[in-house]
Amino acid sequence: MKRFKIKITGIVQGVGFRPFIYNLASAKSLTGFVLNNSEGVDIEIQGPENLLKEFLTEVPYKKPVISLIRELTHTEINVIKKESEFIIKSSKNLPGKFVLISPDLALCQDCLKELFTLSDRRFKYPFINCTNCGPRFTIIKDVPYDREKTTMSEFEMCSKCRTEYNAPSVRRFHAQPNACHDCGPSLSLKDSEGRSISADDIIEKAVDLLQKGKIIAIKGLGGFHLACDAQNEEAVFTLRKRKIREDKPFAVMVPNPDIAEKLVDLTENDIRILKDITSPILIKRKKEDSGIAESVAPNNKDLGIMLPYTPLHHLICKTFGKPLVMTSGNKSDEPIAFHDTEAISRLSGIADYFLIHNREIYMRCDDSVVREVNGHIYLLRRARGFVPFPVFLPKKSSCSILACGGMLKNTFCLTRDNLAFISHHIGDLENLETLNSFEEGIEHFKKLFSISPRVIVYDLHPEYLSTKYALDSKIEKKLGIQHHFAHILSCMSDNNLPNKKVIGVACDGTGYGEDGKIWGGEILIADYEGYERFAHLDYFPLPGGDSAVINPYKSAISLLIRAGVEEDIILNKIFPGYKEEYFIIKKMIETGFNTVDTSSLGRLFDGVSSILGIRNIINYEGQAAIELEQVSDPEINLSFSGNYFNKERRVLEYINLIKNVVKAKLEEKPTSEIGGVFHNSLVEMFISGISSAGEEFGINEVVLSGLSLIHI
Ligand code: ZN
Ligand code: ZN
Repeated sequence: MKRFKIKITGIVQGVGFRPFIYNLASAKSLTGFVLNNSEGVDIEIQGPENLLKEFLTEVPYKKPVISLIRELTHTEINVIKKESEFIIKSSKNLPGKFVLISPDLALCQDCLKELFTLSDRRFKYPFINCTNCGPRFTIIKDVPYDREKTTMSEFEMCSKCRTEYNAPSVRRFHAQPNACHDCGPSLSLKDSEGRSISADDIIEKAVDLLQKGKIIAIKGLGGFHLACDAQNEEAVFTLRKRKIREDKPFAVMVPNPDIAEKLVDLTENDIRILKDITSPILIKRKKEDSGIAESVAPNNKDLGIMLPYTPLHHLICKTFGKPLVMTSGNKSDEPIAFHDTEAISRLSGIADYFLIHNREIYMRCDDSVVREVNGHIYLLRRARGFVPFPVFLPKKSSCSILACGGMLKNTFCLTRDNLAFISHHIGDLENLETLNSFEEGIEHFKKLFSISPRVIVYDLHPEYLSTKYALDSKIEKKLGIQHHFAHILSCMSDNNLPNKKVIGVACDGTGYGEDGKIWGGEILIADYEGYERFAHLDYFPLPGGDSAVINPYKSAISLLIRAGVEEDIILNKIFPGYKEEYFIIKKMIETGFNTVDTSSLGRLFDGVSSILGIRNIINYEGQAAIELEQVSDPEINLSFSGNYFNKERRVLEYINLIKNVVKAKLEEKPTSEIGGVFHNSLVEMFISGISSAGEEFGINEVVLSGLSLIHI
């Protein structure tokens, strides 16, 4: 007879870990107890030594799928006499300690089955969940993760639910959001003024409205979606107009993988991704005969699709039976709405109806977006299903750090030990709502993970609201990090690289440089300690600064002038109708008035897109580059001839590239071909720069980072 004290840290709360331990111990007739503490799980277990060892070996292999064991240690302690059973003790709160928290998870197969079983007591219950699925991050107000510290605290469990909650052998044992028709949250339907609409069956009523082409704001896990029939052009167009979202694509939710396959080509791997507990939006090439309304993704060959991930989504999708537009519940660039009253006031000009419920969302969290390239999955937006799981850093940091992030697609990051807690997608820090969301998010993360940062890190761009926040912060130690160096460091950490020099390639749109210019096409020699700028895209003047970002023709004209393309060709063959703008830009470049030098690759893409007549003015970030990519033929193997890397000046030279693009355009080569050749030439340009860096520094590891364009 022996007794072990076992400590487990990691993601072991709210994921069915204690019932798992209870069942494993009980099956071996071991005695003792398990309890949650603020660090993880404590176990004391007693029995014959061979069975105890068996228990220790089996824990890491048989643990619940969504749990993550970071550390498991055991020590022998004194045997306790007269102990006859294994029990689950109530939680213990240790101040200053912390536990990892699970993300929100898609509905599990067991709950899905019950949802559509007529005899089940939760038949068609829109909030069915268990320890393997359901809301977590978005409903937690504080730690430890117990019902009273979540937004479920106001619902008192009925006797049946409580019995399940207290029965260790049941899937709902200590499932904090456990609920049913009798005791849990319920749905309501409201009109655009917030007046209740009565209906015998709210789901059927909502589906009927969708079939009639209405737009419904649906409250989900991390916020509101705006939903409408994805095959009804009029409905989608109306939504686009009301949302003031001119061209940026909408995501689509499909009832099941079979229907998804009618819209896009799916591999087995794609289906696995879609059905994963993280349930992300997957971007795929749209089929020609998909039947999806043109307004879902104008001028875009791709489509972002996802499967239903909450019971409410399953009920709606199954009844509706067709693809639904499911786009973030916001207007233009505001953050996603997540409180009922706020949603009704902000979305009342967009949604015809509101399908809401009385389970409060405490933290907003958007859908995650992934893209698959040659079998690899790339996260374009890391949010629901992933956050707040940490990224494990290669090295333990000596103190906690708050990194404030950039302006566009902001996320912040807090570290402790060797863990980096990257926030959910905050959005573009351009307005008060997003800034509030950023500040609230930071406070919430600090509380959840007991972090008091000692150092605050910011982007060098003086105008970013995140930078201003850092400079105004009470944290005394402040550290500015160059944007592209940060890109390379994040990629190194993400891939768990040790601290040695790499060739870091950042392909980006905008990043404030150490010389006050706008960087963006960079080759750095970097390690965790610092970097040296080895080479960059040769500077060209950006007339009008930020206004050039939304008017790609400005970059185009600047590049054409720099490349020495004749005025006559620019005015008559490339930009007829832009005579006035041309002379203004020419003057600005000559005098340097309101003009900043840039090595931005994003602006080079913009310029070429505009020269080829694809897009002169954009209405969402990266649109010109995305549309250039969309028309470019990926099968083209050719590239423009010429050496694009200048070893002496250490610059990537765009002049020949632009000249060749113009020549091909004047020869009336198809845009798809020119686009393809341009992309290949750019790759060769970088390869020659990278090779040169490799030879000079004797480094053969290359880290690629920078621009990730979100299409959703
Ligand atoms: Zn479940
Ligand atoms: Zn109940």
